This record gives sequence, structure tokens and C-alpha cells, in this order.
Amino acid sequence: MGVLSGLGNLGLGNLENADVFAQEKKEEAAKKAAPEPKKMTIDDFVFDKSYSCPVCYQEFSNPTMKANKVKLVGQDSDLRPKYDPVDPIKYDIIACPHCGYAALSRYFDKITPPQAKLVKSEISSSFHGIKHTLDYSYDDAVERYQLALGNAIVKRARSSEKAYICLKLAWVIRAKMEALDIDLPDYDTQMDELKKDEMELLQNALDGFMNARQTEDFPMCGMDETTVDYIISVTAAKFQKYDVASKLIAGILTDPKANSRIKDKARDLKDSILQQKKQ
Ligand SMILES: [Zn+2]
Repeated sequence: MGVLSGLGNLGLGNLENADVFAQEKKEEAAKKAAPEPKKMTIDDFVFDKSYSCPVCYQEFSNPTMKANKVKLVGQDSDLRPKYDPVDPIKYDIIACPHCGYAALSRYFDKITPPQAKLVKSEISSSFHGIKHTLDYSYDDAVERYQLALGNAIVKRARSSEKAYICLKLAWVIRAKMEALDIDLPDYDTQMDELKKDEMELLQNALDGFMNARQTEDFPMCGMDETTVDYIISVTAAKFQKYDVASKLIAGILTDPKANSRIKDKARDLKDSILQQKKQ
């Protein structure tokens, strides 16, 4: 007996053997046959842009983020922006594969002839070349930042530039920690190492920005005074330097030029420092 066998008595015998779920099965099959939505690849976000090197004058291509392709999904307390699905911070170093000159993109063209001479004699003379790929791993990105930091030291860059490289490299390391596979057998060891690296870089960034705010003008690395003071405060608080942080926070809160967004963040930080001091 079929579930519809009684229909014959009603004059609907042709329905007696109907498949109750025929329609659904057809739709399911159609769904399976439909082409998958196009999977985004790294080429949708990154392209090779041509540059001319201001040190060796050779042409090269450097992986560069396409504009407005990634989505801002959050921000850390020290203003590190978080994007999805590709992290643009990984792509912020321009590196010449011929001579080894590398810098944060905002500084790449700003090299003086005496600085170029220093790079040639202390970097280019022993540089082996650098891997080229559009899809950087975190380790590839770390290597590029280290090369930029080496260049900054050699060309005697200002404190702010070195501090900014250290801050951004700390952000790359933090992103690597967030992405680290928890099932790795040496997960804890790797995390400890990365945390140590991050704190060392943040300490350098803190020292560099503290020095820069005494000796350089604003805007600094594209940031105004309150933004730099806020980053110093957050970072100083991480090292329990609450007196440094509190003094700068007070300055931000009473600065008529500071915008309300940064004042709100400074107020939150002030509260969190009060909490930390109590513990
Ligand atoms: Zn070059």
C-alpha cells in the first residue's frame, strides 16, 4: 500500500504512485548543479605595481593592495586596524629585489642621496635578494619589515620612522598569533616566542615615539599629536609605565584640538589604568 493509494477511489488514480517529495528532490538537484559562487583569490586583493628604485634606479614590481577591496572589521586598543579577508599591514613595505632597499610605502621615495649611499654600501653590497609572491605568509611579511628596519637603521632614519616600523611589525606578529593553529604540537612554545617578539617591538616603538615627540614635528608618520600621544599611552600602560601614560592622557583630555573619538578612547584607557593599578 502506498501513502497515496486511497486516491484511486477519488478518481485520482494517476496520483497514487506520485513521489511526495519529487519537487524538493528536483530543486535540490538543481542547487547542486548550479555553479559555485566565484571563489575570491589573492589576485582579487593584491596586484603587482611597478616601482623605480631611488637607490639603484632599477625597475621592479612590488605586491600592492587594491583600493577598497578589504573590509575593516575591528580595531585593537593601540589603533591597529583589523581587515578581512586580507591584512593590508602585511603589504605596507616596498622592497627593491635588486639592491635590498626597503621602506614603509609612505617613506619609500623620501630618501636623500647621502642615505642612498649608506644603503648601497651597507645593504646592497651583501644583499641576496628577496622572495617574490603576491600571497605573503606572515613570515614573508616579517622578513620584509625586518629588511625595512635594517634599512632605517643604516640610513639613520628619524626615531619616528623606526618606531612606526616597530609598531607595525608588532601588529604583523600579533596577527600571526591570532592565526596560529592551536592544534600545532608546539603551539605554546611558538606563542611564547611571538609574544616576546611583540613586546620587544612595542618597547622599541614606545622608546622611539617618546624620543620623537621631543625632537620632531607633527604630523608624525601621518599622525597628529593626540594620536601619537594616545599610542604612546596605550603602549606605556602595557609596560606598567602608568605615570607616562596618565600624563599624556591628561594632555589629550584637555586638548581642545583633540577629536571626541580619541578623547573617548583616552577616557577608556584612563579607567582601565585605574583598574590595573588596583590589582
Ligand atoms: Zn634598488
